[in-house]
Amino acid sequence: MQTQQKVNADLVKEKWNKRPLIISGPCSAETEEQVIETASRLAKTGKVDILRAGIWKPRTRPGSFEGIGTKGLPWLQKAKEITGIPTAIEVATAKQVEDALHFDVDVLWIGARTTVNPFSVQEVADALRGVNVPVLIKNPINPDLELWTGAVERVAKSGIKDIGLIHRGFSSYGNTEYRNAPMWHLAIEMKRRNPELPIINDPSHICGRRDILLEVAQKAIDLDYDGLMIETHIDPDNAWSDAKQQITPEQLAAMLEEIIWRKEDVASEEYHAALEKLRQQINHLDDELMFILSQRMKIAEKIATYKKENNITILQTKRWNEILERACTKGEKLGLSKEFITKYFDAVHLESITHQTKIFND
Ligand code: PEP
Ligand code: MN
Repeated sequence: MQTQQKVNADLVKEKWNKRPLIISGPCSAETEEQVIETASRLAKTGKVDILRAGIWKPRTRPGSFEGIGTKGLPWLQKAKEITGIPTAIEVATAKQVEDALHFDVDVLWIGARTTVNPFSVQEVADALRGVNVPVLIKNPINPDLELWTGAVERVAKSGIKDIGLIHRGFSSYGNTEYRNAPMWHLAIEMKRRNPELPIINDPSHICGRRDILLEVAQKAIDLDYDGLMIETHIDPDNAWSDAKQQITPEQLAAMLEEIIWRKEDVASEEYHAALEKLRQQINHLDDELMFILSQRMKIAEKIATYKKENNITILQTKRWNEILERACTKGEKLGLSKEFITKYFDAVHLESITHQTKIFND
């Protein structure tokens, strides 16, 4: 028994450290047959490291399928026995943690609707004390890095060593292309703040539909994510939850074949030399940009002095609109998007107002 446990622990460790780490399985465990068949077909692809399934489903509205509950845990145990693939489920309460561990679930994750609630996260973290199990933490449904960070801290404080992040997008009001807007910059910032934590992308919950899964997955890989969590089902259209976004195990295999896997680094000296040269050019241009910006601010300060002497307001909307329009037209010709130019000029304008205000207050 002891040896069997060790073999299992070693396997989980090996999978946890594998890159890219591929997690797949149904949104929800529905029946024993469905779990076993999904797991077997995923195993046959040879591309899946961890089998996921939702046992308790935190649904936004009551009345939808809320998960099969504890009854589904032996199905996962059996799926692991048959396929040799470690399992992962979502937990949101202490009792769920206890049940999951009782049935040898190998990896736990905290869902987006739980990460938003420090009481729930703390309850889960307390239940994890003294336990050696990897825990993945999904981003909260709202775009708040502090909540995400707080959840990581709570779980880390309970002594969990293997913690990972799952980026599943952020909910926003109104119709967008995505079910949950990816807001890549937030995930990138979270990764910057926590370079030691692996980050997994969850294209299924970002997209909410099948047809754009590949492009989101590819983008994540291009951004050097450590892995993907993608929902699969033996009969996606008839899934009891998240039917629109699930794909078959075979479709998953085809998608993983299509992804261009990039390396963060390659060893060739020639490549490094070429990259270094281009990076120096970028540094040089960045320095120049900053110098030019500081010159621009000095001129703004001069203007502020004139305005102050003539008792004129700092902000002149007409002039600001002129600047913006001119910049957008020029920028577009230079291959810079209107969105970028607008953001950039907004920032420059704000900085300029700060400089001018200082002159006014002197
Ligand atoms: C899920 O993984 O099925 C799930 C409920 O995800 P999320 O917490 O990201 O909504
Ligand atoms: Mn789901």
